[in-house]
Amino acid sequence: MTTKATTATADIANPIVDTDEQAQLRELARNVGRKYGFEYVANASKTGAKTTELWNELAELGLVGLNLPTEYGGGGAGLTELCIAQEELSAAGAGVLMLVVSPAINGSIIAQYGTEEQKQRYLPGIASGEKIAAFAITEPDAGSNSHAITTTATADGDGFIIRGQKTFISGVDQAEWVLVVARLSDAKTGNLQPALFMVPTDTPGLQAMPIEMEVRLPEQQFQLFFDDMRVPADALIGDGDTALTMLFAGLNPERVIASAMALGNARYAIDRAVDYAKERKVWGKPIGAHQGLAHPLAQCKIELELADLMMRKAAALVDAGRDAEAGEAANMAKYASGEISAKAVDQAIQTLGGNGLSTEYGLAGMLAASRLPRVAPVSREMILNFVAQHSLGLPRSY
Ligand SMILES: Cc1cc2nc3c(=O)[nH]c(=O)nc-3n(C[C@H](O)[C@H](O)[C@H](O)COP(=O)(O)OP(=O)(O)OC[C@H]3O[C@@H](n4cnc5c(N)ncnc54)[C@H](O)[C@@H]3O)c2cc1C
Repeated sequence: MTTKATTATADIANPIVDTDEQAQLRELARNVGRKYGFEYVANASKTGAKTTELWNELAELGLVGLNLPTEYGGGGAGLTELCIAQEELSAAGAGVLMLVVSPAINGSIIAQYGTEEQKQRYLPGIASGEKIAAFAITEPDAGSNSHAITTTATADGDGFIIRGQKTFISGVDQAEWVLVVARLSDAKTGNLQPALFMVPTDTPGLQAMPIEMEVRLPEQQFQLFFDDMRVPADALIGDGDTALTMLFAGLNPERVIASAMALGNARYAIDRAVDYAKERKVWGKPIGAHQGLAHPLAQCKIELELADLMMRKAAALVDAGRDAEAGEAANMAKYASGEISAKAVDQAIQTLGGNGLSTEYGLAGMLAASRLPRVAPVSREMILNFVAQHSLGLPRSY
């Protein structure tokens, strides 16, 4: 089993080894994950049911708001701890996409950039898990090029009018609010600057249409239409000058916790493959004795551990507030975990032969989800662009 050790010897500052507290948290999250498990989540994904019991239990245990400040009801820990919880849930087959969106993206942005009044209004609900916030940046005609978004906010009296549309927005049906990335005219220059608005999901003028997806997740994706949607002035988070910094305060944690979720999925798949390879005999000995199966699984295990190290480095940099370094590490972690997620599920299916494609074992049903981290929240090609330009200083091609 690729289960991680739950005993740590010393409370060291080294981010690559669990402290005792982190080891206890890991065990707690693992137990919740195993209590619900793969079947529960897979069944919800198939039937369209919500994983509300799982979410509520995480909320009661204080696992939803782990990374948020205690003065607003959070756990006062960091992204590292939220990632530990997410990785263990996913490794049990019960990862929770809205942990990526609500506390990691929205909670991080508001905790750092919200006014005191906005923190009071949004953070306690997000931290306790009683309220969920979705996040909307992707647009049909902009995609990876978020500089090309055309959703526009126009100042109007004591508020703003927002017009435009978004796509692939997760969990809107469960959310109390959606944090919308729009463009707002700069009062000084007239240029359109990015701006973030926290919008209640029942705001008149907001329409959400579910998108049919092949990826098996209990959280649905939506197209959003903003038709002359009026929001009050205090829906604007931060100010125009800080919008890009604010965005990365949310997008870096998003990439890191999406990595944790991908790594958990990879662990789940490797565990299923290893269990099977130890038991299944077709030439008188377990199929795991054949190097044709053992070596690819060993490679998966090594690549999983390497990606996990990068994820922990990225989380530690986010927690230390070292945003520039965190950006590079978060991208690299997301790349590496996306690759091992796809590879591990593919290899697990191969290991199980025909059973790898059966409904009973569920691995083939993970295929689309195993590729998701290669595409979202940022595609591997855009990460390679980032590394080529920012880490290596190569010229930009687009
Ligand atoms: C299940 C799911 C949940 C999601 N949840 C959310 C959410 O909650 N909120 C939200 O805002 N978004 C969400 N997204 C959207 C996601 O972030 C985007 O799908 C992702 O950013 C890629 O954008 P795109 O799909 O438009 O692909 P495109 O940008 O159209 O890219 C298509 C292909 O072209 C490649 N490409 C594009 N530009 C370049 C380039 N310059 N160089 C090389 N290759 C390039 C890409 O890498 C990709 O392979 C979700 C997506 C999915 C599938």
